[in-house]
Amino acid sequence: MPVDLLYWSGGALLGLVGVGIALWALFADRSGGRLASASIHPLALWALFVDRSRAKRRCSKCWYDMSATAGLQCPECGRVAKRESKLYKTRRNWRWVMAGFMVILAASFLTVQPRVQRDGWTSLMPTTLLVLGVYMHDNQWAFDGLEKRTSYEHPDFQGSWLVSAENLWDWQLRLLGSHCVTLIESNEPPSKRRVAFNWLVHVMSARRKDDDVHRRMWGTLLSLLNDTDSQLREWAAIYSADPLDPQASIDRLLPLLGDPDVRIRRAGVTGMRVLGQYSDAPLPHLVVALAHADWEVRSLAASAIGSMIRRETATEDVLDSLADAFQYDAKAEVRARALLALSNFGLRNVKCREMIRAALNDPEPLVRAEALDALAMMDDMDVAFFVESALAGVLDAEPSVRSHAAWLLHHRIPSRELEDRRDVLVKLMVAEDEEVRSAAAYHLATLEEVGK
Ligand SMILES: [Zn+2]
Repeated sequence: MPVDLLYWSGGALLGLVGVGIALWALFADRSGGRLASASIHPLALWALFVDRSRAKRRCSKCWYDMSATAGLQCPECGRVAKRESKLYKTRRNWRWVMAGFMVILAASFLTVQPRVQRDGWTSLMPTTLLVLGVYMHDNQWAFDGLEKRTSYEHPDFQGSWLVSAENLWDWQLRLLGSHCVTLIESNEPPSKRRVAFNWLVHVMSARRKDDDVHRRMWGTLLSLLNDTDSQLREWAAIYSADPLDPQASIDRLLPLLGDPDVRIRRAGVTGMRVLGQYSDAPLPHLVVALAHADWEVRSLAASAIGSMIRRETATEDVLDSLADAFQYDAKAEVRARALLALSNFGLRNVKCREMIRAALNDPEPLVRAEALDALAMMDDMDVAFFVESALAGVLDAEPSVRSHAAWLLHHRIPSRELEDRRDVLVKLMVAEDEEVRSAAAYHLATLEEVGK
Protein backbone atom coordinates (compact mmCIF):
# COMPACT_ATOMS: atom_id res chain seq x y z
CA MET A 1 0.00 0.00 0.00
CA PRO A 2 2.69 2.62 0.85
CA VAL A 3 4.34 1.79 -2.47
CA ASP A 4 0.99 2.30 -4.24
CA LEU A 5 0.67 5.66 -2.53
CA LEU A 6 4.15 6.60 -3.67
CA TYR A 7 3.25 5.83 -7.28
CA TRP A 8 0.00 7.67 -6.94
CA SER A 9 1.39 10.83 -5.37
CA GLY A 10 4.40 10.81 -7.70
CA GLY A 11 2.03 10.50 -10.63
CA ALA A 12 -0.21 13.28 -9.32
CA LEU A 13 2.76 15.61 -8.79
CA LEU A 14 4.18 14.92 -12.24
CA GLY A 15 0.69 15.38 -13.69
CA LEU A 16 0.45 18.84 -12.12
CA VAL A 17 3.84 19.76 -13.57
CA GLY A 18 2.63 18.59 -17.00
CA VAL A 19 -0.59 20.62 -16.73
CA GLY A 20 1.47 23.64 -15.64
CA ILE A 21 3.77 23.37 -18.65
CA ALA A 22 0.87 22.97 -21.05
CA LEU A 23 -1.08 25.90 -19.59
CA TRP A 24 2.01 28.11 -19.63
CA ALA A 25 2.73 27.21 -23.27
CA LEU A 26 -0.89 27.96 -24.20
CA PHE A 27 -1.54 31.16 -22.32
CA ALA A 28 1.71 32.74 -21.10
CA ASP A 29 1.72 35.12 -24.04
CA ARG A 30 -1.72 36.55 -23.22
CA SER A 31 -0.24 40.01 -22.66
CA GLY A 32 1.41 40.03 -26.05
CA GLY A 33 4.94 39.67 -24.83
CA ARG A 34 4.83 42.89 -22.84
CA LEU A 35 5.48 41.08 -19.59
CA ALA A 36 7.86 38.59 -21.11
CA SER A 37 10.57 39.19 -18.55
CA ALA A 38 8.22 39.55 -15.61
CA SER A 39 6.40 36.34 -16.49
CA ILE A 40 9.06 34.37 -14.70
CA HIS A 41 7.49 35.47 -11.45
CA PRO A 42 4.51 33.26 -10.61
CA LEU A 43 2.29 36.16 -9.52
CA ALA A 44 3.04 38.02 -12.73
CA LEU A 45 2.16 34.82 -14.56
CA TRP A 46 -1.28 34.92 -12.98
CA ALA A 47 -1.73 38.49 -14.19
CA LEU A 48 -1.23 37.27 -17.74
CA PHE A 49 -4.34 35.14 -17.53
CA VAL A 50 -6.64 37.78 -16.17
CA ASP A 51 -5.47 40.89 -17.95
CA ARG A 52 -6.02 40.70 -21.68
CA SER A 53 -6.06 44.43 -22.24
CA ARG A 54 -2.33 44.60 -22.00
CA ALA A 55 -1.84 42.82 -25.28
CA LYS A 56 -0.08 44.78 -27.95
CA ARG A 57 -0.52 44.75 -31.71
CA ARG A 58 1.66 42.12 -33.34
CA CYS A 59 1.88 40.39 -36.68
CA SER A 60 0.34 36.95 -36.21
CA LYS A 61 2.94 35.35 -38.51
CA CYS A 62 6.32 36.76 -37.49
CA TRP A 63 5.21 38.43 -34.21
CA TYR A 64 6.73 41.78 -35.28
CA ASP A 65 5.69 44.56 -32.93
CA MET A 66 3.14 46.64 -34.88
CA SER A 67 2.13 49.00 -32.07
CA ALA A 68 3.81 51.82 -33.96
CA THR A 69 2.52 50.72 -37.38
CA ALA A 70 -0.76 51.91 -38.85
CA GLY A 71 -2.91 49.57 -40.95
CA LEU A 72 -3.12 45.79 -41.14
CA GLN A 73 -0.01 44.99 -43.21
CA CYS A 74 3.15 43.84 -41.44
CA PRO A 75 6.20 45.93 -42.44
CA GLU A 76 8.47 43.00 -41.61
CA CYS A 77 7.03 40.04 -43.55
CA GLY A 78 4.28 41.71 -45.55
CA ARG A 79 1.40 39.68 -44.20
CA VAL A 80 -1.98 41.44 -44.27
CA ALA A 81 -4.20 40.64 -41.31
CA LYS A 82 -7.87 40.12 -42.16
CA ARG A 83 -9.15 42.06 -39.17
CA GLU A 84 -7.75 44.31 -36.49
CA SER A 85 -8.51 41.63 -33.86
CA LYS A 86 -6.14 39.21 -35.64
CA LEU A 87 -3.29 41.43 -34.45
CA TYR A 88 -4.01 40.54 -30.83
CA LYS A 89 -3.64 36.76 -31.15
CA THR A 90 -1.97 34.91 -28.33
CA ARG A 91 1.33 33.37 -29.32
CA ARG A 92 1.10 29.74 -28.37
CA ASN A 93 4.17 27.63 -27.98
CA TRP A 94 2.94 24.33 -29.48
CA ARG A 95 6.19 22.49 -28.88
CA TRP A 96 5.91 23.13 -25.17
CA VAL A 97 2.22 22.23 -25.22
CA MET A 98 3.25 18.85 -26.65
CA ALA A 99 5.96 18.52 -24.04
CA GLY A 100 3.34 19.24 -21.32
CA PHE A 101 1.10 16.50 -22.67
CA MET A 102 4.00 14.05 -22.80
CA VAL A 103 4.64 14.76 -19.12
CA ILE A 104 0.92 14.20 -18.36
CA LEU A 105 1.09 10.93 -20.28
CA ALA A 106 4.13 9.84 -18.30
CA ALA A 107 2.30 10.79 -15.10
CA SER A 108 -0.73 8.64 -15.98
CA PHE A 109 1.62 5.80 -16.87
CA LEU A 110 3.21 6.11 -13.45
CA THR A 111 -0.12 6.34 -11.61
CA VAL A 112 -1.53 3.10 -13.07
CA GLN A 113 1.65 1.08 -12.45
CA PRO A 114 0.53 -0.53 -9.15
CA ARG A 115 -2.66 -1.76 -10.84
CA VAL A 116 -0.80 -2.93 -13.94
CA GLN A 117 1.72 -4.80 -11.80
CA ARG A 118 -1.08 -6.46 -9.87
CA ASP A 119 -3.71 -7.18 -12.54
CA GLY A 120 -1.93 -6.71 -15.87
CA TRP A 121 -2.53 -4.24 -18.67
CA THR A 122 -5.87 -5.73 -19.53
CA SER A 123 -7.25 -4.44 -16.22
CA LEU A 124 -7.23 -0.96 -17.75
CA MET A 125 -9.36 -2.03 -20.70
CA PRO A 126 -13.14 -1.79 -20.83
CA THR A 127 -14.81 -5.19 -20.56
CA THR A 128 -16.31 -4.86 -24.04
CA LEU A 129 -12.82 -4.66 -25.55
CA LEU A 130 -11.90 -7.90 -23.79
CA VAL A 131 -15.07 -9.60 -25.03
CA LEU A 132 -14.23 -8.49 -28.58
CA GLY A 133 -10.62 -9.58 -28.02
CA VAL A 134 -11.90 -13.13 -27.61
CA TYR A 135 -12.84 -13.01 -31.31
CA MET A 136 -9.17 -12.50 -32.26
CA HIS A 137 -7.10 -15.49 -33.22
CA ASP A 138 -4.65 -14.98 -30.36
CA ASN A 139 -7.21 -14.56 -27.60
CA GLN A 140 -5.63 -15.95 -24.43
CA TRP A 141 -4.92 -12.43 -23.09
CA ALA A 142 -8.60 -11.53 -23.48
CA PHE A 143 -9.76 -14.65 -21.62
CA ASP A 144 -7.18 -13.95 -18.90
CA GLY A 145 -8.38 -10.37 -18.59
CA LEU A 146 -12.00 -11.49 -18.30
CA GLU A 147 -11.04 -14.12 -15.76
CA LYS A 148 -9.80 -11.36 -13.45
CA ARG A 149 -13.14 -9.59 -13.68
CA THR A 150 -15.19 -12.53 -12.55
CA SER A 151 -15.20 -14.59 -9.41
CA TYR A 152 -16.01 -18.11 -8.40
CA GLU A 153 -18.40 -18.95 -5.62
CA HIS A 154 -17.04 -22.41 -4.76
CA PRO A 155 -13.67 -23.79 -5.72
CA ASP A 156 -14.90 -27.35 -6.38
CA PHE A 157 -16.19 -28.85 -9.61
CA GLN A 158 -19.70 -27.63 -9.14
CA GLY A 159 -18.47 -24.18 -8.32
CA SER A 160 -16.72 -23.81 -11.60
CA TRP A 161 -20.29 -22.98 -12.49
CA LEU A 162 -19.24 -19.41 -12.14
CA VAL A 163 -22.02 -17.77 -10.22
CA SER A 164 -20.89 -14.21 -10.36
CA ALA A 165 -20.12 -13.02 -13.85
CA GLU A 166 -22.25 -10.06 -12.90
CA ASN A 167 -19.52 -7.71 -14.08
CA LEU A 168 -20.59 -8.60 -17.60
CA TRP A 169 -23.76 -7.34 -19.29
CA ASP A 170 -26.10 -9.85 -20.86
CA TRP A 171 -25.19 -8.81 -24.42
CA GLN A 172 -21.52 -9.27 -23.56
CA LEU A 173 -22.26 -12.75 -22.24
CA ARG A 174 -24.20 -13.56 -25.43
CA LEU A 175 -21.26 -12.48 -27.59
CA LEU A 176 -18.87 -14.44 -25.45
CA GLY A 177 -21.07 -17.56 -25.34
CA SER A 178 -21.69 -17.70 -29.05
CA HIS A 179 -18.00 -17.33 -29.85
CA CYS A 180 -17.16 -20.10 -27.37
CA VAL A 181 -19.56 -22.34 -29.30
CA THR A 182 -17.71 -21.46 -32.52
CA LEU A 183 -14.32 -22.17 -30.93
CA ILE A 184 -15.42 -25.50 -29.45
CA GLU A 185 -16.86 -26.65 -32.78
CA SER A 186 -13.74 -25.54 -34.68
CA ASN A 187 -10.58 -27.48 -35.47
CA GLU A 188 -8.56 -25.48 -32.97
CA PRO A 189 -6.10 -27.45 -30.80
CA PRO A 190 -7.64 -29.09 -27.68
CA SER A 191 -6.06 -26.55 -25.32
CA LYS A 192 -7.99 -23.70 -27.00
CA ARG A 193 -11.22 -25.65 -27.13
CA ARG A 194 -10.87 -26.45 -23.42
CA VAL A 195 -10.49 -22.78 -22.52
CA ALA A 196 -13.58 -22.05 -24.62
CA PHE A 197 -15.45 -24.84 -22.81
CA ASN A 198 -14.65 -23.33 -19.41
CA TRP A 199 -16.09 -20.04 -20.55
CA LEU A 200 -19.08 -21.75 -22.08
CA VAL A 201 -20.12 -23.15 -18.70
CA HIS A 202 -19.32 -19.81 -17.03
CA VAL A 203 -21.64 -18.03 -19.43
CA MET A 204 -24.36 -20.68 -19.13
CA SER A 205 -24.43 -20.42 -15.37
CA ALA A 206 -24.21 -16.64 -15.31
CA ARG A 207 -27.11 -15.99 -17.63
CA ARG A 208 -29.70 -18.74 -16.98
CA LYS A 209 -31.89 -17.47 -19.82
CA ASP A 210 -33.67 -19.89 -22.07
CA ASP A 211 -33.19 -18.43 -25.54
CA ASP A 212 -31.52 -19.34 -28.83
CA VAL A 213 -28.02 -18.61 -27.56
CA HIS A 214 -28.58 -20.77 -24.49
CA ARG A 215 -29.96 -23.64 -26.55
CA ARG A 216 -26.95 -23.48 -28.88
CA MET A 217 -24.57 -23.59 -25.90
CA TRP A 218 -26.42 -26.51 -24.34
CA GLY A 219 -26.46 -28.39 -27.66
CA THR A 220 -22.71 -27.89 -28.01
CA LEU A 221 -22.10 -29.11 -24.48
CA LEU A 222 -24.09 -32.32 -25.08
CA SER A 223 -22.35 -32.94 -28.43
CA LEU A 224 -19.03 -33.05 -26.53
CA LEU A 225 -20.14 -36.31 -24.87
CA ASN A 226 -18.93 -37.94 -28.09
CA ASP A 227 -15.86 -35.76 -28.61
CA THR A 228 -12.42 -37.09 -29.52
CA ASP A 229 -10.77 -35.16 -26.70
CA SER A 230 -11.29 -37.18 -23.53
CA GLN A 231 -10.79 -34.16 -21.27
CA LEU A 232 -13.70 -32.41 -22.98
CA ARG A 233 -15.80 -35.57 -22.80
CA GLU A 234 -15.11 -35.80 -19.07
CA TRP A 235 -16.12 -32.21 -18.40
CA ALA A 236 -19.15 -32.44 -20.63
CA ALA A 237 -20.30 -35.52 -18.72
CA ILE A 238 -20.15 -33.69 -15.40
CA TYR A 239 -21.89 -30.59 -16.71
CA SER A 240 -24.50 -32.54 -18.63
CA ALA A 241 -26.36 -33.14 -15.36
CA ASP A 242 -29.45 -31.00 -15.79
CA PRO A 243 -31.44 -30.44 -12.59
CA LEU A 244 -34.48 -29.48 -14.65
CA ASP A 245 -34.56 -32.83 -16.41
CA PRO A 246 -33.14 -35.54 -14.12
CA GLN A 247 -34.42 -38.47 -16.19
CA ALA A 248 -32.82 -37.29 -19.45
CA SER A 249 -29.61 -36.60 -17.51
CA ILE A 250 -29.55 -40.13 -16.11
CA ASP A 251 -30.16 -41.57 -19.58
CA ARG A 252 -27.07 -39.70 -20.76
CA LEU A 253 -24.91 -40.54 -17.76
CA LEU A 254 -25.67 -44.25 -17.28
CA PRO A 255 -23.95 -45.45 -20.48
CA LEU A 256 -20.79 -43.60 -19.42
CA LEU A 257 -20.36 -45.99 -16.48
CA GLY A 258 -19.50 -48.69 -19.03
CA ASP A 259 -16.98 -46.54 -20.93
CA PRO A 260 -13.54 -48.08 -21.53
CA ASP A 261 -11.89 -44.84 -20.31
CA VAL A 262 -11.72 -44.73 -16.50
CA ARG A 263 -11.96 -40.91 -16.49
CA ILE A 264 -15.24 -41.05 -18.34
CA ARG A 265 -16.59 -43.68 -15.96
CA ARG A 266 -15.65 -41.48 -13.01
CA ALA A 267 -17.21 -38.45 -14.69
CA GLY A 268 -20.43 -40.44 -15.14
CA VAL A 269 -20.70 -41.03 -11.38
CA THR A 270 -19.71 -37.46 -10.62
CA GLY A 271 -22.44 -36.23 -12.95
CA MET A 272 -24.96 -38.32 -10.97
CA ARG A 273 -23.62 -36.84 -7.78
CA VAL A 274 -24.16 -33.32 -9.14
CA LEU A 275 -27.69 -34.31 -10.10
CA GLY A 276 -28.20 -35.76 -6.63
CA GLN A 277 -27.89 -32.28 -5.15
CA TYR A 278 -31.24 -31.46 -6.74
CA SER A 279 -33.07 -34.73 -7.11
CA ASP A 280 -33.34 -38.22 -5.60
CA ALA A 281 -33.62 -39.77 -9.07
CA PRO A 282 -29.98 -40.97 -9.36
CA LEU A 283 -30.06 -42.75 -5.98
CA PRO A 284 -31.22 -46.21 -7.20
CA HIS A 285 -28.65 -46.08 -10.04
CA LEU A 286 -25.87 -45.23 -7.60
CA VAL A 287 -26.90 -48.13 -5.39
CA VAL A 288 -26.56 -50.43 -8.42
CA ALA A 289 -23.13 -48.88 -9.11
CA LEU A 290 -21.96 -50.14 -5.70
CA ALA A 291 -21.61 -53.51 -7.46
CA HIS A 292 -19.65 -52.11 -10.45
CA ALA A 293 -16.57 -54.01 -11.63
CA ASP A 294 -14.37 -50.90 -11.31
CA TRP A 295 -13.55 -50.14 -7.67
CA GLU A 296 -13.14 -46.41 -8.38
CA VAL A 297 -16.73 -46.31 -9.62
CA ARG A 298 -17.88 -48.18 -6.50
CA SER A 299 -15.98 -45.82 -4.23
CA LEU A 300 -17.31 -42.68 -5.95
CA ALA A 301 -20.82 -44.12 -5.90
CA ALA A 302 -20.61 -44.69 -2.14
CA SER A 303 -19.47 -41.09 -1.61
CA ALA A 304 -22.20 -39.79 -3.90
CA ILE A 305 -24.84 -41.73 -1.97
CA GLY A 306 -23.45 -40.30 1.27
CA SER A 307 -23.75 -36.77 -0.10
CA MET A 308 -27.40 -37.41 -0.98
CA ILE A 309 -28.66 -39.04 2.18
CA ARG A 310 -30.94 -36.84 4.15
CA ARG A 311 -31.87 -38.85 7.17
CA GLU A 312 -35.63 -38.54 6.67
CA THR A 313 -35.56 -39.74 3.08
CA ALA A 314 -32.88 -42.39 3.42
CA THR A 315 -34.48 -45.80 3.26
CA GLU A 316 -33.54 -49.09 4.85
CA ASP A 317 -32.52 -50.67 1.54
CA VAL A 318 -30.02 -47.86 0.87
CA LEU A 319 -28.62 -48.49 4.33
CA ASP A 320 -28.43 -52.24 3.64
CA SER A 321 -26.59 -51.70 0.35
CA LEU A 322 -24.03 -49.49 2.04
CA ALA A 323 -23.68 -52.00 4.89
CA ASP A 324 -23.07 -54.75 2.31
CA ALA A 325 -20.46 -52.66 0.55
CA PHE A 326 -18.79 -51.92 3.86
CA GLN A 327 -18.73 -55.55 4.96
CA TYR A 328 -17.98 -57.39 1.75
CA ASP A 329 -16.17 -55.11 -0.69
CA ALA A 330 -12.67 -56.28 -1.60
CA LYS A 331 -11.21 -52.76 -1.62
CA ALA A 332 -10.48 -50.95 1.68
CA GLU A 333 -11.10 -47.58 -0.07
CA VAL A 334 -14.61 -48.62 -1.05
CA ARG A 335 -15.34 -50.00 2.43
CA ALA A 336 -14.14 -46.74 4.02
CA ARG A 337 -16.31 -44.61 1.68
CA ALA A 338 -19.31 -46.83 2.30
CA LEU A 339 -18.84 -46.50 6.06
CA LEU A 340 -18.63 -42.73 5.81
CA ALA A 341 -21.85 -42.65 3.78
CA LEU A 342 -23.48 -45.05 6.23
CA SER A 343 -22.63 -42.79 9.17
CA ASN A 344 -25.20 -40.29 7.87
CA PHE A 345 -27.85 -42.52 9.44
CA GLY A 346 -26.57 -41.59 12.89
CA LEU A 347 -25.68 -43.54 16.01
CA ARG A 348 -29.32 -43.89 17.06
CA ASN A 349 -29.73 -46.22 14.11
CA VAL A 350 -28.83 -49.66 15.46
CA LYS A 351 -27.36 -50.98 12.20
CA CYS A 352 -25.23 -47.90 11.70
CA ARG A 353 -23.94 -48.04 15.25
CA GLU A 354 -23.08 -51.71 14.85
CA MET A 355 -21.11 -51.01 11.65
CA ILE A 356 -19.13 -48.17 13.20
CA ARG A 357 -18.27 -50.36 16.17
CA ALA A 358 -17.08 -53.09 13.81
CA ALA A 359 -15.09 -50.56 11.75
CA LEU A 360 -13.25 -49.30 14.83
CA ASN A 361 -11.79 -52.79 15.17
CA ASP A 362 -11.29 -53.42 11.46
CA PRO A 363 -7.97 -54.93 10.33
CA GLU A 364 -7.61 -52.12 7.73
CA PRO A 365 -6.11 -48.90 9.22
CA LEU A 366 -7.91 -46.82 6.57
CA VAL A 367 -11.26 -48.17 7.75
CA ARG A 368 -10.42 -47.56 11.44
CA ALA A 369 -9.37 -43.98 10.67
CA GLU A 370 -12.54 -43.39 8.65
CA ALA A 371 -14.67 -44.73 11.51
CA LEU A 372 -13.15 -42.15 13.86
CA ASP A 373 -13.70 -39.48 11.21
CA ALA A 374 -17.33 -40.54 10.93
CA LEU A 375 -17.75 -40.17 14.70
CA ALA A 376 -16.11 -36.74 14.63
CA MET A 377 -18.67 -35.57 12.07
CA MET A 378 -21.74 -36.99 13.81
CA ASP A 379 -24.10 -34.66 15.58
CA ASP A 380 -26.06 -37.13 17.67
CA MET A 381 -23.62 -37.31 20.51
CA ASP A 382 -23.21 -40.56 22.41
CA VAL A 383 -20.56 -39.44 24.87
CA ALA A 384 -19.71 -42.80 26.40
CA PHE A 385 -19.24 -44.29 22.93
CA PHE A 386 -17.09 -41.33 21.82
CA VAL A 387 -14.86 -41.52 24.93
CA GLU A 388 -14.37 -45.25 24.58
CA SER A 389 -13.56 -44.99 20.84
CA ALA A 390 -11.20 -42.02 21.17
CA LEU A 391 -9.23 -43.46 24.10
CA ALA A 392 -8.84 -46.78 22.29
CA GLY A 393 -7.88 -44.98 19.05
CA VAL A 394 -5.04 -42.92 20.55
CA LEU A 395 -3.31 -46.20 21.43
CA ASP A 396 -3.68 -47.63 17.91
CA ALA A 397 -0.59 -49.09 16.23
CA GLU A 398 -1.15 -46.94 13.13
CA PRO A 399 -0.12 -43.22 13.29
CA SER A 400 -2.94 -42.02 11.00
CA VAL A 401 -5.53 -43.70 13.24
CA ARG A 402 -3.96 -42.14 16.36
CA SER A 403 -4.10 -38.73 14.68
CA HIS A 404 -7.84 -39.04 13.90
CA ALA A 405 -8.51 -40.27 17.44
CA ALA A 406 -6.58 -37.34 18.93
CA TRP A 407 -8.73 -34.93 16.97
CA LEU A 408 -11.91 -36.60 18.21
CA LEU A 409 -10.62 -36.53 21.78
CA HIS A 410 -9.58 -32.90 21.59
CA HIS A 411 -12.52 -31.34 19.77
CA ARG A 412 -15.61 -33.45 20.32
CA ILE A 413 -15.38 -34.61 23.92
CA PRO A 414 -16.15 -32.19 26.77
CA SER A 415 -13.50 -32.28 29.54
CA ARG A 416 -16.02 -33.00 32.32
CA GLU A 417 -16.77 -36.36 30.65
CA LEU A 418 -13.14 -37.34 31.31
CA GLU A 419 -13.20 -36.54 35.02
CA ASP A 420 -12.79 -40.15 36.19
CA ARG A 421 -10.27 -40.89 33.37
CA ARG A 422 -7.60 -38.52 34.66
CA ASP A 423 -5.14 -41.36 35.17
CA VAL A 424 -5.47 -42.28 31.49
CA LEU A 425 -4.94 -38.64 30.46
CA VAL A 426 -1.83 -38.42 32.64
CA LYS A 427 -0.42 -41.50 30.93
CA LEU A 428 -1.14 -39.94 27.52
CA MET A 429 1.01 -36.94 28.46
CA VAL A 430 4.05 -39.03 27.51
CA ALA A 431 2.50 -40.45 24.33
CA GLU A 432 4.54 -40.60 21.13
CA ASP A 433 2.39 -38.19 19.09
CA GLU A 434 2.32 -34.48 19.76
CA GLU A 435 -1.40 -34.32 18.87
CA VAL A 436 -2.25 -36.91 21.51
CA ARG A 437 -0.15 -35.18 24.18
CA SER A 438 -1.73 -31.81 23.48
CA ALA A 439 -5.28 -33.22 23.61
CA ALA A 440 -4.52 -34.81 26.99
CA ALA A 441 -2.86 -31.62 28.26
CA TYR A 442 -5.85 -29.55 27.15
CA HIS A 443 -8.34 -31.69 29.08
CA LEU A 444 -6.15 -31.95 32.19
CA ALA A 445 -5.74 -28.17 32.27
CA THR A 446 -9.49 -27.63 31.89
CA LEU A 447 -10.26 -30.12 34.66
CA GLU A 448 -7.68 -28.42 36.90
CA GLU A 449 -9.36 -25.06 36.24
CA VAL A 450 -12.82 -26.40 37.10
CA GLY A 451 -11.51 -28.15 40.23
CA LYS A 452 -10.31 -24.89 41.78
ZN1 LIG B 1 5.03 39.83 -40.02
